[in-house]
Amino acid sequence: MIMSELFKDKKPTLSFEVFPPKKDGVHIPLEKVFPTMDELVSLNPSFISVTYGAGGGKGDSVTCGICRHIASKGVLSMAHLTCVNSAKEDIDRILDELESSGIENILALRGDIVPNIPPKKDFSYASQLISYISERGGFHISAACYPEGHINAPDLVTDIRHLKEKVDAGAEHLISQLFFDNSAFFRFRELTAAAGINVPIEAGIMPVVNKKQIERMVSICGASLPAKFSHTMARFENNPEALRDAGIAYAVNQIVELIAEGVDGVHIYTMNNPYVAKRICDSVSSLL
Ligand code: FAD
Repeated sequence: MIMSELFKDKKPTLSFEVFPPKKDGVHIPLEKVFPTMDELVSLNPSFISVTYGAGGGKGDSVTCGICRHIASKGVLSMAHLTCVNSAKEDIDRILDELESSGIENILALRGDIVPNIPPKKDFSYASQLISYISERGGFHISAACYPEGHINAPDLVTDIRHLKEKVDAGAEHLISQLFFDNSAFFRFRELTAAAGINVPIEAGIMPVVNKKQIERMVSICGASLPAKFSHTMARFENNPEALRDAGIAYAVNQIVELIAEGVDGVHIYTMNNPYVAKRICDSVSSLL
């Protein structure tokens, strides 16, 4: 099954994102990662997407290996793929590996431009990677979107113009950056519709379960923090269990409102935490 089938019946999807974990900068052997993946698979999400680390190395094979494992357990998997640090030959090699592994779904990204890795020249933007994969054929392509605008974009309207280029190039589904203020997502949805973007948009939700995570996420993606969220986190920051429960409750409240407002789907940034993912699934499964 490929991704487009999922959205045909208009029921909201609930999907997960996982990442290939590292210890001391080195990928943990796959067989040690699989038990966590199996716990997430047992929650029966619509699909699981697997991130791709910037900077090459064996990252793509690890992403592909986890996707293969998830698919072998009967859940649809999607491989993230970034392009800014890759030449066409690198991308061809990864696409060959995904194809021979039977992984048909790709989240095509530019990737972050990091100071110690000079970008290669073949791809400057995700839209170019999307066109490249589209021309090759054989994959369902998804892309990233940013309800509050991408951090490098001059403004949201310009960013949405570039988003439309990704859809026109062949992206059939979008997954949003995390956000904590649903009103930002609803406004974004109106703007994308007005811009002629008609593909399903999944809302990215990050259950914040510890203090370090909040600081890191906000510095990376620039999501705004509503007063309600900041007050809740500040109130419980010295009580890890309460902070975790409050973070889960906040995410569940966001999801309930999103589903009530007819969202196409919700993509949970699980941080490879099956306990948190299960608590959320248990709370919202009857709404799907
Ligand atoms: P693009 O769509 O290319 O946009 C990047 C910037 O360029 C934007 O500001 C856009 O407005 C601008 N732009 C686009 N086209 C043009 C143009 N023609 N002219 C001028 N400006 C233009 N990163 C990873 O390294 N690995 C992952 O696995 C990963 N997974 C992600 C999953 C999701 C759901 C999201 C939301 C992000 C993920 N990222 C990941 C982060 C992502 O790589 C960064 O946000 C990156 O900086 C932008 O990627 P993009 O594909 O959105 O880029």
